[in-house]
Amino acid sequence: MTRIVRITHPHPPLPFYVPQCATEPMRTLGEVVLEGRNPFILSNIEACPGEDSIPQSQNSAALRAVKGSIFRVYAHFFAAFAAVIVLFFPLNLPAQTHFNGAKALEYARQFVAIGPRWPTSQGHTQAEAFLRGQFKHDQLEEDTFTANTPIGPVAMRNFIVRFPGKKDGVIVLGTHYETNYWLRNINFVGANDGGSTTGLLLAIADQLRTEIARNKALEGYSIWLVFFDGEEAIQSWSASDSTYGSRHLAAKWGRDGTLGRIKAFILADMIGDKDLDIQRETRSSDWLVSLMTQAAKKFGYDRFFFQTEGPVEDDHMAFVQRGVPSIDVIDLDYGPNNSYHHTAQDTMDKITARSLTIDGDVFLETIRLIDLR
Ligand SMILES: [Zn+2]
Repeated sequence: MTRIVRITHPHPPLPFYVPQCATEPMRTLGEVVLEGRNPFILSNIEACPGEDSIPQSQNSAALRAVKGSIFRVYAHFFAAFAAVIVLFFPLNLPAQTHFNGAKALEYARQFVAIGPRWPTSQGHTQAEAFLRGQFKHDQLEEDTFTANTPIGPVAMRNFIVRFPGKKDGVIVLGTHYETNYWLRNINFVGANDGGSTTGLLLAIADQLRTEIARNKALEGYSIWLVFFDGEEAIQSWSASDSTYGSRHLAAKWGRDGTLGRIKAFILADMIGDKDLDIQRETRSSDWLVSLMTQAAKKFGYDRFFFQTEGPVEDDHMAFVQRGVPSIDVIDLDYGPNNSYHHTAQDTMDKITARSLTIDGDVFLETIRLIDLR
């Protein structure tokens, strides 16, 4: 009886046709065409020596065997494919809807690579040039002013980038971008403190740009990104030696009526670290804290948000004092016993794309909820 023992050509190979000849080698018998809905050629059908020809009756039996086997192979492949779908589909589908924290991290890396960027330093000038370059095709306003500081007048510069929306009103997302003057001698690069949230806002800008390219304007309120200068103290923190950029801008927007258009002011500070635990800052508006809690719940991020609470002095205060609904999204617990905060340890290896993904997801969802109010 002729036994087809190996079919070498079709892909994928049919591994279960194990050669079972009494003597080697096998011989090629020829080419067989399998007909059906998707006919294809099986070339190089081989058989064992001494079984030169396939009798007609045996031939069709052999072909049925081949067809059956091919069916089994394809059935196996479909099963494997289905298994892959079942295994990865639930993971991949949400992944497509998540914020691109890796991109935010990459922006932070490029920005932090500039090095220390304290006011009056060359690094500060480079940081300004970096931001200018990132937003050269957007509605960028450079808000320059002179700050009265303990070391005398210092030139400072806020960057405001406007993404227009269809609803009347503005949501402001803020961060500071500079590093501390008083840390100028320790190579303090502020990867988390100033760097991570600058990267976060740059990646959010990418997403806003994409939406505007598609729809001409954002569906909800306009979104303005603000990169504040001079958040850190020049010498030591006090009401007059800190938050220079935000105090300047809030006063200016108070004078020209802009503050009345702001539906929400959302400040991001130090939220790139691996061990993310964002505080409930007690002067922040309750309804914004509630919306952000709701946004975090949507992604199962509850445990990263508002498990502890306390007051924090930050760039939101000048807006809070003027009655603008505001929230400071800050994680002031950075490293063991906060040992990375304002030290040379605040470096890129301490921050992660995962935390920035969490931040971005929750910020964008919070914005969506504000738009729906
Ligand atoms: Zn700081």
